[in-house]
Amino acid sequence: MSIFEIKGLVREYDGEPALKNININIGAQALGVIGKSGSGKTTLLKILAGLLTPSQGKLSFNGTEVTPAVLLDLRRRVTMVFQTPQFLNGTVRTNLSYGLRIRGVSDEEIKRKVSDALDLVSLEAYGERYARNLSGGEQQRVALARALILDPEVLLLDEATSNLDPVNVSLITDILVQESEKRLVVISTHDLDQVKRIAKHVIFLEEGIITEQGDPYKLDSVNRFTENVYTGISNVEKGVSQVHVGDIIIRTSSPLTGRISLHVRPQDIIISKGWIETSARNQFRGLITGVNERDGIVMIDIDVGEVFTVQITRRSFNEMSLKLGEPVNISFKASSVLPL
Ligand code: ADP
Ligand code: MG
Repeated sequence: MSIFEIKGLVREYDGEPALKNININIGAQALGVIGKSGSGKTTLLKILAGLLTPSQGKLSFNGTEVTPAVLLDLRRRVTMVFQTPQFLNGTVRTNLSYGLRIRGVSDEEIKRKVSDALDLVSLEAYGERYARNLSGGEQQRVALARALILDPEVLLLDEATSNLDPVNVSLITDILVQESEKRLVVISTHDLDQVKRIAKHVIFLEEGIITEQGDPYKLDSVNRFTENVYTGISNVEKGVSQVHVGDIIIRTSSPLTGRISLHVRPQDIIISKGWIETSARNQFRGLITGVNERDGIVMIDIDVGEVFTVQITRRSFNEMSLKLGEPVNISFKASSVLPL
C-alpha cells in the first residue's frame, strides 16, 4: 500500500498555482524531488508534512484522507528537516528532548534516546553545547537527530544539505541511506550524487508539474544536470550575477545572491583554440583533460580551474583537430547559465 496518495493536487499562493495537478503514489521506497528553484519542491514537502494544505485535490496518508481531523496525527508521524534549522534557546540536549517531552516520554527514556540520537549523528559529546552556537554542519546534524529521535514513519528533508561542506554532506547522506531502510525518506536536493545514493525513485518538478519521473540512474533530467553543475557564492553587479566558484567567476543573467547552484548545458559552450571576441560574458582558458564519444557526439572535458564538459559533433572535433592535453578556450553566455 502507498504511504501517500496524491490525486489532482493543486496548491496556490494568492491565486497563483505553485503546484498544478500533482498525481503520485509514494510507497516505502525513498523518493527524491528535484527541480529548479521555484519549481514547487518545498511546497510539496510541506503538504506531505501537514504544514500546508492543498488548495484542490486529495492527499491520503496510510489510506486515510488527510482532513483537518487527522492533520495532527500526520504531523506526529512525519518530521521535516529544513535547509536552515531553527533551535530553541538552550543546549543540544534541550532541543533533542523537547519533542519527546511533549509526547510524555519518561526522563529515563529521554536520556537514553538523546544519547542514541547523538551517537547516530556522531555528536556524542555535544549534549551540553549551546545549539545555536554550533557550526552549520553540526546544527544540521542536530536537526536530523531531532527529527529521528521521534522515530517518524516519514522523514522529509528539504535541501537540508545545500549549505554544508562535503564532509557533513557525506556524513548526513550515509545516515539517510541507512534510514531509508527503516522509514520512508523524501528528499529534495540539487545534489544529484546524493539523490542517486538515497532515492529509488525521483520526480522532476518544473513549474509545479511533474514532468519526468523514474529511476534516478535512468532519468534524463538527472543525467542532463549531472555535468557542469557548480555551486558558489553570488553577488550582483550591474544586473549580472558574479558567482565565485573555486578560483573562477561564472557570470549569469539571473539576479541571484548568496549560495547558489548553477548548470551550463554542454551544448551551450563554445570551444576555440584562442581568445575570441564574443558577446558571451564567460570565457576561460584551460586544458583538455578528457575526450569521450557517444553516438557521434564528442564530450570534451576542459579544466579551467573547474571542469567543464562541452558537447560537439564528431565532425567539428575532427575539423578542429582537438587533442588531449592541449590548451583551448571555452565561452558561453551569461543567459546560458541556469540556476538550479
Ligand atoms: P522550491 O522549493 O522548488 O524553490 P517553492 O515551493 O518554495 O519552490 O515555491 C514554488 C512557487 O511558489 C514559487 O513561485 C514561489 O515563489 C511561490 N511561493 C512559495 N511560497 C510562497 C508564499 N509563502 N507566498 C507566495 N508565494 C510563494
Ligand atoms: Mg525550496
